[in-house]
Amino acid sequence: MSELVIADLHATVGDKAILNGVSLTIRSGEVHAVMGPNGSGKSTLSHVITGKPGYTVTGGSVTLDGVELLELAAWERAKAGLFLAMQYPTEVPGVSLEAMLTASAVAAGRDADVIKASIAAESERIGFATELITRPLNVDLSGGEKKRNETVQLGVLDPKFAILDEIDSGLDVDAMKAVTRRVEEATNRDNPLGVLAITHYKRLFEELEPDHVHVFAAGVIQKSGGRELADELEETGYAEWAHLVDNSGPTAFDNPFGDTTFADGLNLHEG
Ligand code: ADP
Ligand code: MG
Repeated sequence: MSELVIADLHATVGDKAILNGVSLTIRSGEVHAVMGPNGSGKSTLSHVITGKPGYTVTGGSVTLDGVELLELAAWERAKAGLFLAMQYPTEVPGVSLEAMLTASAVAAGRDADVIKASIAAESERIGFATELITRPLNVDLSGGEKKRNETVQLGVLDPKFAILDEIDSGLDVDAMKAVTRRVEEATNRDNPLGVLAITHYKRLFEELEPDHVHVFAAGVIQKSGGRELADELEETGYAEWAHLVDNSGPTAFDNPFGDTTFADGLNLHEG
């Protein structure tokens, strides 16, 4: 049993405070959903936990089984068992999924042939086209293919904790089922995966069963509950927290599609 403990986490970008005291504990096998308006700092939270450069941590801690992650480089955090499925997966010209996964697995002391077999099995399992395994990572992939690609990585790397940042964006119904079913299976295995799933849509929970749902706004968790909170949010949106949101930013509460409570302009532009 492992534990990822986020305690009173504060972070800034430039001179702007984005995370204002986030506290959340995730145990093996648990699925925590984080839902909140655009620009509230959800992706920043995922980036700060996983060690993406460009953020300044101004307080708090993130520990995995007692080890302080904030003092580690991003690759060391990955080695400690942390995985991030990015909202916008990075294109890496010249490096294939196979090369990237083999290198990281060998670095972790695993066998290259076993990894190749695992990549093939995981790809088959979620319907990721095998010819994409050896093509440059994410280059010219559709939104759905990129998210399946992230899920293959998750399956092969077999982390203790996964942060999924809008893994449902740009997915059609079939891809959504395949991806969320794979993650749900990982939460039920012998060494079960713990999940922090950032999403706007409760359709993510058709296959992936959330144990806890959190409303995130203005850089902190405002409210926590069970699955019923996601139903409530789909009815009411985030109006209750709207007064906390800084509307000066480019993404805050932007809704070019009018009345759709959960419309996320960025999602809707993805293919
Ligand atoms: P969310 O994922 O909830 O939509 P983000 O974490 O992406 O929110 O962004 C939170 C706020 O931080 C936004 O106002 C965004 O513009 C700002 N922000 C995030 N990353 C950067 C950055 N690298 N440079 C400048 N501003 C940033
Ligand atoms: Mg985001």
